[in-house]
Amino acid sequence: MSPQPNGATVVTGVMGHPVAHSLSPLLFNTAFEILGLDWAMVAFDVDDGETAAALTGMRALQIRGMSVTMPHKESVCALVDERADTAAQLGAVNSVVRRDGALVGHNTDGAGLVASLRHGADYSVDGARCLVVGAGGAARAAVLGLADAGAREVLVVNRSPDRAAFAASMAGERGRVGTPDDVALAELVVQATPVGMRDTPSEHAEPLVDPARLGPGQLAVDLVYHPRDTAWLEGARHHGARTLGGLGMLVHQAAAQLELFTSLEAPVEAMWAAAQRAVADE
Ligand code: NAP
Repeated sequence: MSPQPNGATVVTGVMGHPVAHSLSPLLFNTAFEILGLDWAMVAFDVDDGETAAALTGMRALQIRGMSVTMPHKESVCALVDERADTAAQLGAVNSVVRRDGALVGHNTDGAGLVASLRHGADYSVDGARCLVVGAGGAARAAVLGLADAGAREVLVVNRSPDRAAFAASMAGERGRVGTPDDVALAELVVQATPVGMRDTPSEHAEPLVDPARLGPGQLAVDLVYHPRDTAWLEGARHHGARTLGGLGMLVHQAAAQLELFTSLEAPVEAMWAAAQRAVADE
């Protein structure tokens, strides 16, 4: 069991606005305890215009690692000293590691999705025809993650066509803009818009891709994890598709961050169990 925070405790953080709802402190502190590390994660509510000041604070306070969530992912990317390839390509950072005084930005969202497919659905993306619905930060990370994991093609269906083209470009020659009719040809369909997300204006919005378009032989993934089982997933399952919620991606992108912070293997099962308990308690 790790000790109470003390003078030697290594501090990490998650910065966002709002951030009180973030599961990151629970996931990381669970992992630190399992690993027997005298480390702690706390949440920092950082206003939109205060990103640079927060990073200056991270340097001065010698905070070892920082998870980054909305609305700071793009501004942090512009402010760090170095960027890993994935973060540079996405123009978005979801974690910062302080190494030899330099702040290095990473993005583990896409790798987290791919790991959750393997862990939660025993699914390999290699050679798969994929379709991503949405073109925001989560969708772009999904497109790049799927392409990096060997997808044969990645189609993007989005409300705004210009954003769809940009998101599809993350997959290079294997990416293109699609329409809902293309769903029939996809083996994996990732819903990456906030439609269906509880307590938001999008909760009851019409999904861009009707779940009735999905069926047997397809895997439908919704990145929304609150609720864990969305109406879109229920619909896809009703029409014969296999389904997976977004909680696994949340856990795996955090596990990958923890490995960057500590250079240790993350206790994914314990983090997964903690996340499930937290969502069940809501
Ligand atoms: P974002 O950057 O704001 O992008 C939202 C995307 O959804 C845009 O492409 C937008 O279309 C589209 N959209 C929004 N409302 C829509 C509607 N009513 N109908 C059709 N399309 C709509 O958001 P984000 O950061 O990508 O997050 C998207 C979702 O993924 C959120 O629910 C978030 O919680 C979830 N997420 C989950 C994880 C995880 O670990 N599971 C990680 C990150 C995000 P336009 O381009 O046309 O505006």
